[in-house]
Amino acid sequence: MKQDVVQITDRGLFVPAANLHIDPWGPVERAVITHAHADHARGGSGGYLTSRSGEGVLRARIGSGAPVETLPWGEVRQVGSARLSLHPAGHILGSAQVRVEVAGEVWVVSGDYKLEPDPTCRPFEPVPCHTFISECTFGLPIYRWPHPDGVFSEISRWWSENAEEGRTSILFGYSLGKAQRLLAGLEYQRRNEAREHPGPILVHGAVHRLLPPYREAGVDLPTIDRANGESVRAARGRALVVAPPSAGGTPWIRKFTPYSTAFASGWMRIRGTRRRRGGDRGFVLSDHVDWPGLLAVIAATGAERVGLTHGTTGPAVRFLREAGWDAWSLPTRFQGEDGSDEPSDGTGDGESKHPVESKDPVEPTGPSQLQRASQRRPAP
Ligand SMILES: [Zn+2]
Repeated sequence: MKQDVVQITDRGLFVPAANLHIDPWGPVERAVITHAHADHARGGSGGYLTSRSGEGVLRARIGSGAPVETLPWGEVRQVGSARLSLHPAGHILGSAQVRVEVAGEVWVVSGDYKLEPDPTCRPFEPVPCHTFISECTFGLPIYRWPHPDGVFSEISRWWSENAEEGRTSILFGYSLGKAQRLLAGLEYQRRNEAREHPGPILVHGAVHRLLPPYREAGVDLPTIDRANGESVRAARGRALVVAPPSAGGTPWIRKFTPYSTAFASGWMRIRGTRRRRGGDRGFVLSDHVDWPGLLAVIAATGAERVGLTHGTTGPAVRFLREAGWDAWSLPTRFQGEDGSDEPSDGTGDGESKHPVESKDPVEPTGPSQLQRASQRRPAP
């Protein structure tokens, strides 16, 4: 019997032909890292391979001295009997899909990805494959993203209204990825519409410390100061402060009174979540693929077999099976935990966990199903 090119193990996805793990759940000998969010990149492994543009943010996550090798987009590296390459995923800076080819059979592991434009990273590129392992964070038809241009206009209007009333605007977004996307998006909008912002943009320290790897990778970010009592007071209610959601309700935030808060996340698509988590306002801005995007990408890969992971996979698996795909759920290490476990170093992908419900309604299936599915191999 032919072996699966990518297998699920108790340490996550494993490529036997190359003896390496993809986004392992703990320390392993060799790890390929799709991106630097804490639920995908963990320290302590013997060696790391990641995209060239992802190196800086990965080092910020796992330590500057970590044994990290990089690979330019699309360049093939022979590892054991596998041909391995990385392809842009459009999720955060340096985020990659992993293409693995063994004896002519191609599997692609998506990591996290999105299709919407984002000035902080290379756009997603569909990679033809036989088997596609996809994230499924927002795997329900209710999740459809508005165009980010409109979302940035809404953010600007909200900021202007607050500034007119002398209230500091505090915009929550995860420290790695979302915060930089907000900063770059506001800068792009300012230049594009040739007008000035109502006041300065200031950031929380967890966001500030991740700006250098973005600048080094060539992302266009304006000069941005840290938010503290002094800098916010000096702006007299006209500042926009970008901070991680974990800063909400802390003494650090209370120094900025009076203020108005908002949360930028895909979860803001749901009114109940907005009420519970969104502060005064919610802006629908996600770094994960939405439902129509998920289906479009699956079709674009040409894959006949689709493994779904990260999120509520059950409904999407059923939908794909009814539409003729060989689809299944893969277990996720952190599936089911809520969004409150943003690591203290600020490198989590809080958006990848549902902030309210904690149970996947359909039990993910284990390695045996992955094996069974792989026996029904389509003709290449
Ligand atoms: Zn992520």
